[in-house]
Amino acid sequence: MMEYKQITKEDLDIIAGFMDRERLLFGEEINEEYSHDELASEKSYPSLVARVTSTEEVSKLMAYANEHHIAVTPRGAGTGLVGASVAVEHGIMIDTTLMNHVLELDEENLTLTVEPGVLLMELRNYVEERGFYYPPDPGEKSATIGGNISTNAGGMTAVKYGVTRDYVRSLEVVLADGTIMQLGGKVVKNSSGYDLKDMVIGSEGTLAFVTKAILKLLPLPKKSVSLLVPFPTLEQAIGTVPLIIQAKSVPTAIEFMEREVILDAEEYLGRKFPDNQADAYLLLKFDGNTMEEIASYYDETAQICLDQGAIDILIADTEERSLPVWKTRGAFLEAIKASTSMMDEVDVVVPRNKVNAFVEFVHQLRQEIGIRIKSFGHAGDGNLHVYILRDDLPEDKWQDLLGIAMNRMYAKAHDLRGQVSGEHGIGLVKKPYLNESLPEASLVLMRGIKKVFDPNNILNPHKVCQA
Ligand SMILES: Cc1cc2nc3c(=O)[nH]c(=O)nc-3n(C[C@H](O)[C@H](O)[C@H](O)COP(=O)(O)OP(=O)(O)OC[C@H]3O[C@@H](n4cnc5c(N)ncnc54)[C@H](O)[C@@H]3O)c2cc1C
Repeated sequence: MMEYKQITKEDLDIIAGFMDRERLLFGEEINEEYSHDELASEKSYPSLVARVTSTEEVSKLMAYANEHHIAVTPRGAGTGLVGASVAVEHGIMIDTTLMNHVLELDEENLTLTVEPGVLLMELRNYVEERGFYYPPDPGEKSATIGGNISTNAGGMTAVKYGVTRDYVRSLEVVLADGTIMQLGGKVVKNSSGYDLKDMVIGSEGTLAFVTKAILKLLPLPKKSVSLLVPFPTLEQAIGTVPLIIQAKSVPTAIEFMEREVILDAEEYLGRKFPDNQADAYLLLKFDGNTMEEIASYYDETAQICLDQGAIDILIADTEERSLPVWKTRGAFLEAIKASTSMMDEVDVVVPRNKVNAFVEFVHQLRQEIGIRIKSFGHAGDGNLHVYILRDDLPEDKWQDLLGIAMNRMYAKAHDLRGQVSGEHGIGLVKKPYLNESLPEASLVLMRGIKKVFDPNNILNPHKVCQA
């Protein structure tokens, strides 16, 4: 393992020469939150947290770290679920949350230029107040846009609109040696050699530090309608999704949910779900500019659902009706977390017509190995969230069963020609599964790319594809 220099008081004094001491947290001044992300099971403190306010500060910090071989961990809001922003080698953590300004709304080019620490919820409010739409919709709205870009975050709207990568026109980045670079531009097309911008997107802070982003915007759809569709069985619900897609209807989102997870959310939110007719549901959303346009999309979908045995079609065409349903859906992760002592998560993505096969496998697995496993997910894009729950299992038994469950699920996703992660990334904890699932030739290319970007391996060591 490569040895990294640790930060001393002398380093602190030098760094305080080019950025305010008040924005540097050293040793005891570092809050516990900085030692982990939302996964919480992986912990390691950085030696120094630098709360930067400019690209120049990031550049100077990187150049200093590169020269002295100090590890650097980029950090947004720390909402990641795979330990990607944990400072394994201590060193310097660069926190972007003070770089939180919207810099430009360019209405002629339909772009928004932002600093990396702008929170997703702020970004969305900013553009929507002005009649524009930034479609990527990951569940955690208090994440930063820099974190979203670095994990290529996705959400429920991926079915129709795609993921973060599809909305990044350009990035300003700082390379490991402190060089400031512009990747891409305010252009709609780009066929100019290797796309370095796309390489940085989703690289989880291992290739470059994102200090600015130019994002693509769309006009804000004026109306939306949600359909809540109860089914007698989950199999029928999920089995209907490929037919909806085949019918070329264009929902914004198609989610599946089971009664047992809805019950957790009811308890967590202290509020009843608007329907209790069934054990399984599809939740769909359609958007457009008029109610007539939207009705033309969902009429056919509703008929397909009924033909497949749906018990009812509940139409939520006002905010008042749709909000409680989406709020319940939005609370699933936190609700499941609150229902157990500890949990671990699988975020695989499989082809959309294989979701049923995967969910059925999970149901069998939990019977077979005797551990509570809950799931919900984006039926429309094949991305499943599966949670293995510890409850009151003793440590050795928990580790044992967790290992079995994880290995079996990742192997199944691989068999179904899926991928290890649909949206949360690889970070620290999903590395073994990435290593198993990708061919050696892909890993060799990934490690080679890392070496070209960061020859001294100072940027977020041990993450994604690195040993
Ligand atoms: C309740 C809940 C729901 C969630 N739902 C979703 C979801 O639906 N979809 C989804 O994709 N994710 C989801 N997540 C995971 C998480 O919110 C995303 O991974 C998010 O993109 C992380 O952003 P962050 O600002 O918190 O980044 P962090 O957790 O701080 O960092 C994440 C990674 O990005 C790197 N990074 C951060 N900023 C920069 C930068 N400026 N330059 C270079 N690298 C950087 C870090 O080093 C790290 O590798 C959810 C999390 C929670 C807790």
